[in-house]
Amino acid sequence: MMDTAKKIILELKTAGFEAYVVGGAVRDLLLGRVPHDTDVATSALPEEVKRVFERTVDTGIAHGTVLVLLDGEGIEVTTFRTEGAYTDHRRPDEVAFVRTLEEDLKRRDFTINAMAMTETMDIIDPFGGRIDLEDKRIRAVGNSSERFSEDALRMLRAIRFSGQLDFALDDETFAAIKQEASLISSISIERVKAELDKMFLHEQAARSLGYLQEAKLNEHLPNGKMFDVDWTAYEATGNSLYGWAFMLHRGGFDVSALRLYKLSNDEKQQLANTLCAASLETWNAWTYYSIGTEALEMAAKLTDRQVAIPKKKSLLPIAHKQEVAINGKDLMEWTGKKQGPWLKDWISRIERAIVFGELPNDPATIKEWFQVEFSTQDE
Ligand code: ATP
Ligand code: MG
Repeated sequence: MMDTAKKIILELKTAGFEAYVVGGAVRDLLLGRVPHDTDVATSALPEEVKRVFERTVDTGIAHGTVLVLLDGEGIEVTTFRTEGAYTDHRRPDEVAFVRTLEEDLKRRDFTINAMAMTETMDIIDPFGGRIDLEDKRIRAVGNSSERFSEDALRMLRAIRFSGQLDFALDDETFAAIKQEASLISSISIERVKAELDKMFLHEQAARSLGYLQEAKLNEHLPNGKMFDVDWTAYEATGNSLYGWAFMLHRGGFDVSALRLYKLSNDEKQQLANTLCAASLETWNAWTYYSIGTEALEMAAKLTDRQVAIPKKKSLLPIAHKQEVAINGKDLMEWTGKKQGPWLKDWISRIERAIVFGELPNDPATIKEWFQVEFSTQDE
């Protein structure tokens, strides 16, 4: 176990409280994986946690969470809690603190996420999480349908974990996803998008997407039919955007198909560039110049191109418009003409000629070239 988490637990115990590592960290430790964050659950109330430690941050005090800063790390310490009433298949209206660890574990989504670990690494496992880990199975805590009607995002989480861990969905849990699928439309698109992004990152993402299709959960997502492409050849990269790119490319959709998913402008631009590059028969200097490395990498993967993109980019005469050795002022001086749309057109022509290696990027040569071209233009 992480030393910092252990220290925190010991401090809380010294102060008379119970404390355990809980959730994903226990699961990952038992799987021999490195947890990416460690959560501690405690019987201490947030105010009591704050009294025990010198440095804390109120990150989620309404939900009982205090961030404890110790040894250069931040560990979330959360009071044992249940969740209040669920009126709309989304998050609970309120949280209630409870006295026992068991009650806290019971509100957690899946058996493999509902275990706790003491500072001596003893496991507390009231719902059979260890057996499910051994059998590589994702199973809801309690009645699956009830748990999904409380919080419909859990259906997507189950499917995401199947790819993250390369686990199967338990039959009852999967049947409940099929049955409750329509409830996913009650979840905010931000939370849905975040789950899908995570899904696309895992090596076994195709397994998740297979479940998504089989349960027809996608049909209750915005423009959900677009998920019905063949994902078997999908290979994750470190970039979740690649999942969206793969789907759009395979399905022949453009970025507007994702209108309701609230992508950032940068994400939309990257996707548009990726699809554009993927659609080009051949890539020339202008392609390498005008499209960013990430989008080109995605497009190359989509279209099975073997190209050393950084190398291609490094061989270009210029990397950016700003590097063109002349500017609009020079053109106005050379022609005696005033500002106007003609300027932009000519700068573009010069830029292209430089990128294609037809024109050296030095002011004197550009001036010569320009004066010939400009005087012979047909206007
Ligand atoms: P990872 O961080 O690797 O994706 P995790 O298990 O840590 O996995 P988190 O989303 O960080 O997942 O949540 C931490 C823990 O909180 C989970 O292990 C689970 O016990 C509980 N949890 C999270 N979201 C829900 C939910 N929607 N319903 C019930 N319990 C949840
Ligand atoms: Mg986590």
